[in-house]
Amino acid sequence: MRIGIPKEMKDNENRVGMTPAGVAELTKHGHTVFVQHTAGENSGFSDEEYAEVGAEILPTINEVYAQADMIVKVKEPIEPEYGLIRKDQLVFTYFHFACDRPLTDAMIKSGAVCLAYETVQKADRSLPLLVPMSEVAGRMAALNGAFYLQKTKGGKGKLISGVPGVKPTKVLVLGGGTVGEAAARMAAGMGADVTITDISLPRLRQLENELPANVHALYSTEHNIRKELPDVDIVIGSVLVPGDKTPHLITRSMLGLMEKGTVLVDVAIDQGGCFETSHPTTHSDPVYEVDGIVHYCVANIPGAVPNTSTMALTNATLKYAVALADKGWRQACKDDEALFKGLNIVDGKITYKAVADVWGLPY
Ligand code: NAD
Repeated sequence: MRIGIPKEMKDNENRVGMTPAGVAELTKHGHTVFVQHTAGENSGFSDEEYAEVGAEILPTINEVYAQADMIVKVKEPIEPEYGLIRKDQLVFTYFHFACDRPLTDAMIKSGAVCLAYETVQKADRSLPLLVPMSEVAGRMAALNGAFYLQKTKGGKGKLISGVPGVKPTKVLVLGGGTVGEAAARMAAGMGADVTITDISLPRLRQLENELPANVHALYSTEHNIRKELPDVDIVIGSVLVPGDKTPHLITRSMLGLMEKGTVLVDVAIDQGGCFETSHPTTHSDPVYEVDGIVHYCVANIPGAVPNTSTMALTNATLKYAVALADKGWRQACKDDEALFKGLNIVDGKITYKAVADVWGLPY
């Protein structure tokens, strides 16, 4: 198969759809891979590295789309790319159709096969192509919380670990899923005194058993959260209620329970956020204050570490990309239920119910 790796066009998106290691695997399977000139540059991968593993470097995005039967990328196509996607071309990427009507309409019109990373789902309901980005975002949340605790950044002026003779800081993680576990592990590794909450008792048992001794698992109720707030230093929001809006576990009035300079990191901001006072921010302007409480609400946290994020993403997508290239999408989706669930739009028709329902379109 002929596979295309275009350079991402979305503002501030530095990741790329596949690393040279991934391309090497595809060429080993006999496929032809076209990589756009400088596509991997911002993730730390040069054209030469791709060429060494057999990729053909093409100068423009138009040529990559024109040559390829399958496009592998990171973010959803944006408006200038819509016209480049043609009938029956397979596009394997994050789409998030439920948040973007113009994209949905454009992909219906294109007649392409849209296989969305975010809905590839295994039998145990896990989302294997979302997990790696949550693992990155959780770790980064702890690092950013520690960074903004500095006095010069608006924080309380505390070092996350403390030092011998001075107590470590207190970190509260709301939601003990992939993001929450990664955040708790990182904060604990830096020496903080960590509390992680969830509404699932089996999950709390697992977290208590598997995480270091300076992490304590607490059942999530408003009462319990209120009791934690007066002496907490960093709160990390990582709750997800599938198919629903994220609940506001810390309301505006609860900000008054915390000391000024407390840092709130709302990782769940891409689903509306866990704090009532959260609104999305960007890497170029990541924080703001409400009532003296620092809010960090960047919606694409992994974008700050594109080298790690690109490698983590390729690790997860590669086996699916190889199957799609080896067998073609029809057979690959027949053979693998997880991949089948990734099909969102095929030949002008929506094939994923939740997307059709959001836009009131036929399914
Ligand atoms: P997950 O499904 O693995 O974990 C969510 C957890 O929240 C579950 O364990 C669930 O039991 C728990 N939960 C639900 N309601 C709760 C409540 N009331 N109190 C406490 N816990 C509750 O999800 P995840 O992969 O960890 O993702 C978490 C959020 O982070 C999602 O919204 C995801 O989209 C977002 N995310 C954001 C970025 C970013 O860059 N900002 C990156 C990756 C993920």
